[in-house]
Amino acid sequence: MTEQKQYDYDYFVIGAGSGGVRSARIAVSNGARVGIAEASALGGTCVNLGCVPKKLMSYASHYSDDLQDMQPYGWSVIGETEFDWARFIKNKNDEISRLNGIYENILKNNDVDLINGYAKFIDNHTLDIDGKKVTADKILIAVGGTPFKPDIEGADLAITSDELFYLENHPRKTLIYGGGYIALEFACILNGLGSEVHVVYRGELPLKGFDVQVREKLMEAMKSRGINFHLETEINKLEKNDGQITAHLSNSKNDVFDTVLFATGRVPLTKKIGLENTDIEQNDKGGIVVNKSFQTKADNIYAVGDVINRIELTPVAIQEGHFLADHLFKDQEFEMDYNNIATAIFTTPPIGTVGLSEEDAKQAYGELDIYESSFRPMKNVLACRDERTFMKLIVDPKTDLVLGCHMLGDDAPEIIQMAGIAMQMCATKTDFDKTMAVHPTSAEEFVTMRSVSRKIR
Ligand code: NDP
Repeated sequence: MTEQKQYDYDYFVIGAGSGGVRSARIAVSNGARVGIAEASALGGTCVNLGCVPKKLMSYASHYSDDLQDMQPYGWSVIGETEFDWARFIKNKNDEISRLNGIYENILKNNDVDLINGYAKFIDNHTLDIDGKKVTADKILIAVGGTPFKPDIEGADLAITSDELFYLENHPRKTLIYGGGYIALEFACILNGLGSEVHVVYRGELPLKGFDVQVREKLMEAMKSRGINFHLETEINKLEKNDGQITAHLSNSKNDVFDTVLFATGRVPLTKKIGLENTDIEQNDKGGIVVNKSFQTKADNIYAVGDVINRIELTPVAIQEGHFLADHLFKDQEFEMDYNNIATAIFTTPPIGTVGLSEEDAKQAYGELDIYESSFRPMKNVLACRDERTFMKLIVDPKTDLVLGCHMLGDDAPEIIQMAGIAMQMCATKTDFDKTMAVHPTSAEEFVTMRSVSRKIR
């Protein structure tokens, strides 16, 4: 008997989300005996309480624009149009259940043992899963994160994105607290669905860390769509009054809302998994400390995805889980490359971005050539919609390398994926210029911006 066989499994994964499922599946394909525990729905945050339901809600919210824009294109709506929140939520839930089934089949078809239950460490090699003892040679923690609510009087009156996805009634007048991805995406979704939306953010300009020009232009666009911003403002207290919630703001204003959504970040879900019974160390945010091979301080335990709070994005967790399984069971060396991760924010209009912001590029390179383009896309002109698309390339004048590529406008998330490939291949501005345009598109602007808009020296 090899040493490994003294355990029930070679590899046991806690959490059947994006990172965990991929890692389990790849480990089996590399010959390991693998189990996975999941206490709630399969697929994790992305499928159940994140990317997927959010994208479906974002699609739902765009039909209000389509209903307006189609009229100059010759279409008419006969009779009233209305949005039925309950019908949409039911259909969205059905789709999520379908995806849960797909995840179950992936595990089954790949011979991963699924244990439906909550796993807690008894020691470095032993888990208690709702009373059942399971041992494993190697264990992966891929339990993800959960919304964080700041400690404010009346905070329990506020919901988070977890509850918003399952609200029975259409939230009408809504206060959203925070200025990150989730806050702005929901602000645009609810605005598109006809709600009155107020964003309260403690900073000067939402979306900290992204390119400042893109942030400014997004805020202008959101404001002209009727979203109200209360900047450099905090919530002091929430109070319940006749089924409504009164928000007391730090700018001395009070207002009454039917829904208050806290989108104030997420924290790793590590509190109840018995880490105290292992040698694992955590950082000050509760994230599990790992080395570059995702190994924790307990050398048989690994962690990937949101629980290590590095970069909280589904594709990152998937790649981390995949590389780790190939490393552990195929002896493959790896190094994660966290540069040039293309990402999108599904606001209306959406953002697509890859590489450095102008601010970060300036700090790292000093001198820059900035290429910018701002235009009304063809569809908006006939539709009499003023909203503009903004595109920007940040170039190192010494090497001609494209350092950052940013877009605010329709289809930006789809377009930026391809720009991500070019950036990964170290494309220069000359490479962009040599590329033939696809006409007529908005994307072609990325290969036709010929003159420098600003030189930073
Ligand atoms: P973010 O960290 O992006 O934003 C949190 C916001 O809440 C920030 O504006 C922050 O302010 C504010 N905030 C934090 N703490 C407090 C506090 N105590 N009081 C008041 N305000 C506070 O988190 P999100 O929840 O929006 O998203 C979590 C992660 O999920 C993202 O970082 C992203 O990686 C991922 N995600 C990705 C999406 C996508 O790819 N499209 C969509 C949604 C989420 P400040 O700016 O001052 O720090």
